[in-house]
Amino acid sequence: MAPAATPGARIPARGGGDSSNKVYQDRQKPQEIRNSNMIAAKAVADAIRTSLGPRGMDKMIQDGKGEVTITNDGATILKQMNVLHPAAKMLVELSKAQDTEAGDGTTTVVVLAGAILEAAEKLLQKGLHPTQIAEGFRSAGLACQEMVRKELATPLDIKDIAMVQKCASTSLNSKVVSQQSSLLAPIAQEAVYRVIDQEHDTNVDLKDIKVTTVLGGTVEDTELMEGLLLRQRVCAGPKRIEKAKIGLIQFCISPPKTDMDMNIIINDYTQMDRVLKEERNYILNIVKKIKASGCNVLLIQKSILRDALNDLSQHFLDKLKILTIRDVEREDVEFVCKSLGCRPIASLDHFTAENLASAELVEEFSASGTKLVKINGTANPGRTVSILVRGSNKLVLHEAERSLHDALCVVRCLVKERGIIAGGGAPEIELSVRLYQKALELTGVDAYCYKAFSEALEVIPMTLAENAGMPAITTVTQLRKLHADGNKSAGLNIKKGAIANIMDDNVVQPSLITISAINLATEFVAAILKIDDIVNTVR
Ligand code: ADP
Ligand code: MG
Repeated sequence: MAPAATPGARIPARGGGDSSNKVYQDRQKPQEIRNSNMIAAKAVADAIRTSLGPRGMDKMIQDGKGEVTITNDGATILKQMNVLHPAAKMLVELSKAQDTEAGDGTTTVVVLAGAILEAAEKLLQKGLHPTQIAEGFRSAGLACQEMVRKELATPLDIKDIAMVQKCASTSLNSKVVSQQSSLLAPIAQEAVYRVIDQEHDTNVDLKDIKVTTVLGGTVEDTELMEGLLLRQRVCAGPKRIEKAKIGLIQFCISPPKTDMDMNIIINDYTQMDRVLKEERNYILNIVKKIKASGCNVLLIQKSILRDALNDLSQHFLDKLKILTIRDVEREDVEFVCKSLGCRPIASLDHFTAENLASAELVEEFSASGTKLVKINGTANPGRTVSILVRGSNKLVLHEAERSLHDALCVVRCLVKERGIIAGGGAPEIELSVRLYQKALELTGVDAYCYKAFSEALEVIPMTLAENAGMPAITTVTQLRKLHADGNKSAGLNIKKGAIANIMDDNVVQPSLITISAINLATEFVAAILKIDDIVNTVR
């Protein structure tokens, strides 16, 4: 995106010499930079506007290698877009921030930021100072957040499972997999509830929920697994073991390699025999010790230095009937340990019975041709769950995974801040109406800023309506009227294509998503307004 030049900037000041010309240009420069930043950011916001809401369009993204991604998720679209302008990059960061903070509402935040930027532009044209606008918007944004928290949000009892599922399915509504929302929403709710303490927890570590994708089958086959799921296959030993004693090792069962490049020269058969015997003894010693501890299931962490197993060790493990799984990813080790309630074993000396975990059943199974292993009935389970997502092709599969992530995040939001509000543009219109009333009581710059901010908020219902093919202006005007008359939950029911009491229609969402979107979008606009120069460094 090329920075837009302001045409007037290069015209020399009339009658001025060289020095006055320079001053003139410098005075224009901040404005030029600001304009260019705004244009770039608005262009990006416009590009993903059409993806908002249940009738929003999806984007097909092709990367340099020809890989294609189909998605509706704002953060994903922006992450994959190759934006060059620094301000556009800030917008990418903005949606990432929303992704971390709330997990959903990543399109909303960008669309909102675009609209607030446009409002800022109009105020700049009126001659307001950028810092004043930034301050005014900040205060308006804070007022909105306060209103959502104190006035709009309904407190949620976390035990109200039906309501939690409704929130999760609202977020799934706008996805490619919206058809399966009745299946995925309960899975998301159940998964989060299994890993938290409902009474006391105020956050959820989504690392405790492991989502595994397997190509084949349909999204309908997605399931919440009992116990631990590993996406590796069994490489030695039996495929099924009851009453398992599981050890997770971080060392390899193969002959050691020297640190330096070395050649061993063998001149006759006896020497060769000796080397082979050494190797055999070395490996046999390890395997025997493993067996002696009572272990019958062995998980081996992936190693990049040498082979985790060689043919010989595989043979011995087979003989001794130890179910072996190799190449457990390094980053999965923590999860596996937490699930099984054991510690990873780093050296053979520590391979003792007390370091093993026990489970009722370890078994390999097949999902559409892909072999996986599940471990059930662990003796001292930590709080983790595994979800197996299925899809008939890669595009759907990965979008299903991302959508499930959004749904999990929605449930996490509800655990973090236990309040819900209506969806379908209702909260934005309500805030807009209230902010406008506040503006009337104010004087000075703030009054302008509040009014402009109030108008900017309308972008959400406006866009939802536009994307659904409803007459945008008429709809939003009607909504304004309804809200001014005190119908707090009047919103757009996109599926019906009409204005309705959105709470009754079960389109609800966590209040945290809206709060965080408004907060982050205002911060973003304030930041953009305060930039008056772009300096390139040469390294
Ligand atoms: P985001 O990435 O910001 O979550 P979405 O595409 O998921 O964007 O759209 C979310 C918006 O769609 C929210 O404002 C939500 O209230 C609205 N929405 C979701 N489902 C419905 C529905 N059935 N009717 C009306 N609006 C809906
Ligand atoms: Mg969403």
